[in-house]
Amino acid sequence: MEFAPAPPLETPASWQWPARVDGLDAQRIADVGLILTLERAPPAVWQAFQTKSLQRLLAFVVQASPAWRDRLRRNGPVSRQTQLPILERAEFRRLVESHGALPLPAAHGDALPHSTSGSTGMPVRFFVSQHSLRVVRNHFHAGHPRHGRDLMRTRAALGSRTDPHPGLEHVFARGNPWLGESHLYTRRNTDFSMAEHAQWLARLAPAWLAVNPTVLSGMLEAYEAGDATPPSGLEQVITFGGTIEARLRQRTRQVLGASIRDRYSCEEIGPVAWQCPNDRGDDPPYHVAVTNTIVETVDDAGQALPQGETGRVLVTGLHHWASPAIRYDLGDVAALHPRCPACGAGLPTLTQLLGRRRGLLRTPSGRGLFVRLTASDWLDVAPVREFRLVQQAHDRIRVELVLAMPLSDAMREAVAAMLSQRISPEFSWEIVALERIAWPPGEKRQDIVCEFG
Ligand SMILES: [Zn+2]
Repeated sequence: MEFAPAPPLETPASWQWPARVDGLDAQRIADVGLILTLERAPPAVWQAFQTKSLQRLLAFVVQASPAWRDRLRRNGPVSRQTQLPILERAEFRRLVESHGALPLPAAHGDALPHSTSGSTGMPVRFFVSQHSLRVVRNHFHAGHPRHGRDLMRTRAALGSRTDPHPGLEHVFARGNPWLGESHLYTRRNTDFSMAEHAQWLARLAPAWLAVNPTVLSGMLEAYEAGDATPPSGLEQVITFGGTIEARLRQRTRQVLGASIRDRYSCEEIGPVAWQCPNDRGDDPPYHVAVTNTIVETVDDAGQALPQGETGRVLVTGLHHWASPAIRYDLGDVAALHPRCPACGAGLPTLTQLLGRRRGLLRTPSGRGLFVRLTASDWLDVAPVREFRLVQQAHDRIRVELVLAMPLSDAMREAVAAMLSQRISPEFSWEIVALERIAWPPGEKRQDIVCEFG
């Protein structure tokens, strides 16, 4: 397969600077500048922006659709955001299916069909406006200056939405000289083995790579197995669309000498939070994308949580009017802080951002406890193929395991010790080996279940 280097950047035929500047480029530069300016401003500045944006959104929804208006008024007048009803994914889907896109003002452009990727356990179709697409795209672009990336250096992306490119190692997304960016080497995720991806990256030697965490992990395995020599010069790996385990960050540093820069986003509203650009540790906090969304955390009863406590993440998309996600429950769990505990930035910040919601355990004192167990936590102590933790009493948890060999007493003790250390010493563990776990049919597997409290 041929390795084709990117062609030099072309000078646009219409290049008549400074007499003319393309409108979309100028818009992007202005959007990125304003996004970064608001993030760095005192909180009162972006809070005022959020309040104004939310007021406009609510006023629009109330006049645009009786069904959406009635829903918003369920708990009383539409005045305080925290009184508005929480929007579950199933209800969002029902509203969009029954009523379609809200009739948009001309400035928002057309409404276009869009959908979630399906990794949420509940695929949802909805609408986005041309206006919201621009806002999302330009928010993603702001990630480059935020993380100090020089777009003229060699850069690469592995994507599942890249069109097939048979016979070619990669294709190019055209660079844009107005924006100081070179061509982006892009490659289709699914058309190559992990070893081939690893070898390709070594040949290309980009300064940074955008990739989903599962593919990244597969490529790291290929390097670890000696299927390819790691590239030199890779500085950043940009990830999205999955939970980033501390171990993945460590392996990326060890094998590639690069740091992961993750973003937390969703199809419904785009960016929700960005990994703190100043923390290179194993568990960095995420700054909320305050120019795109208002983020809240609530408990199971829908009550606001004190800062730092783990609970359900609600997002309100400030620019998405075609299918408005207002206090929308993403099915994720995190803790919210008023400022960044790592770098001190005056932005709301998420920690313990642990991906799609799994069950919370309850401590004997009744607090929700999110549990994150990695594959190596388990495999270091037993050949675990599947597991499920079921809390059956305030201090007792049933540990269901499917194992590759019979459960020995030594394994049982090692599992209990690992769980006591990783979760809490307050619990007793009832460890059982099963042929198969009775996962509920049709549901995404939930590996932490609380049947108590
Ligand atoms: Zn920070």
